Amino acid sequence: MEKIDHLIHAKWIITCEDQNRVLEDHALAIRDKSILEILPSKAALAKYTADNIHEYKTHTVLPGFINAHTHIAMNIFRGLADDLELMDWLTNHIWPAERAWVSDELVYDASLLAIAEMIRSGTTCFNDMYFFLQATAKAVDTAGLRAHIGITIIDFPTKWAATVDEYFAKGIEFYQQYREHDRISVTVAPQGVYTVTEANLARVKKVADELNLRVNIHCQEAVSDIEGAIALNHKRPLRCLDDVGLVSPHLIAIHMTQLDENDFAILQAKKPNIVHCPESNMKLASGICPVTKLMDLGINVALGTDGAASNNDLDMIGEMRTAAFLAKLSTRDAKALPAERVLKMATINGAKALGIDHITGSLIAGKAADFIAIDLANIETQPLYHPISQIVYAASRNQVTDVWVAGKQLLRNRQLLTLNEKEIQEKAKIWRNKIKN
Ligand SMILES: [Zn+2]
Repeated sequence: MEKIDHLIHAKWIITCEDQNRVLEDHALAIRDKSILEILPSKAALAKYTADNIHEYKTHTVLPGFINAHTHIAMNIFRGLADDLELMDWLTNHIWPAERAWVSDELVYDASLLAIAEMIRSGTTCFNDMYFFLQATAKAVDTAGLRAHIGITIIDFPTKWAATVDEYFAKGIEFYQQYREHDRISVTVAPQGVYTVTEANLARVKKVADELNLRVNIHCQEAVSDIEGAIALNHKRPLRCLDDVGLVSPHLIAIHMTQLDENDFAILQAKKPNIVHCPESNMKLASGICPVTKLMDLGINVALGTDGAASNNDLDMIGEMRTAAFLAKLSTRDAKALPAERVLKMATINGAKALGIDHITGSLIAGKAADFIAIDLANIETQPLYHPISQIVYAASRNQVTDVWVAGKQLLRNRQLLTLNEKEIQEKAKIWRNKIKN
């Protein structure tokens, strides 16, 4: 008998690898934070002796969700300003609130609130863009999930930095501090082509090349940000990014709801990653990312929620359903974006966008033990013909019972194991009372 750390038995396992497999009565053998083998449960019991055995008898085990675009600290502004168009929402409500309130302390408390929500809805990794990066990283470190944290670059002062030089300096200091961390990675995150000049985007390219980091940017989110980019840089955003050499498989372009023929030509030639955020795009009335058309061109499209101030949740199950429905409606084709494809957007495609698909995003031997269990025994998800259909089209995030990252359990039977839920709720109320007054 071979000794391992954990043996995870599940009614179903969805692997989300290229040849996506849905396995019945199988087990994950876990040793040293990684998946050692996936095999039938009976064979696993004969082969392995485990320190801990977990039985997910009515559950589906699958890779944890990867939220490929968010601003987690914006959870503290959830519900503060709704039912507004992007530029009105941003310039008249969100930026003033950020100028008044964002601090190291707020970002830490708000990040824990968001991370608690993400873990409870099955997210094991997220790609963030905000300020006070150390506060977000500290929250990630405490919670135990994975994150890519973006060095925000913006051409105007915020509470975090006064000048572009200061954004770069603080960001590089953050990179030096976290470059060896096993769950935290760093990206360079210019906010958008309407808020960063072409000269500073060229500087982003230089720093990203020197440090070998991905670049993460809002791009062509709505008509208004294209107009802003043309006013500032005299060209469309994607063209501007391409002119400074940023459009490549190392770019993560967020939103992309407004695409003309030239944009498609650039995308097809340079193959950047795109993050689709359908609920935020719908709520701000921004537009619709042509997901199926992009995928047909061989472009990797991942899924993100965006911040909770424009969504208003960090629920990747809900986001998958919205993405599938929106693709069908917008193309008038019910076959567009089927359940299995949208599940891959929320898992392995996210890992590909972040450049960590050799570590996470699917369940195969050798990858990190990042997985979740969803209980499908509820009345709402019965009878069960196919687990992927139930998860995408019928399940709610409240059916996520257990979450593991790198072989460590973060959620057990919906209870957070690394975070204090009561304390997080109390802090959220204190901030609400300050911001409301
Ligand atoms: Zn965003």
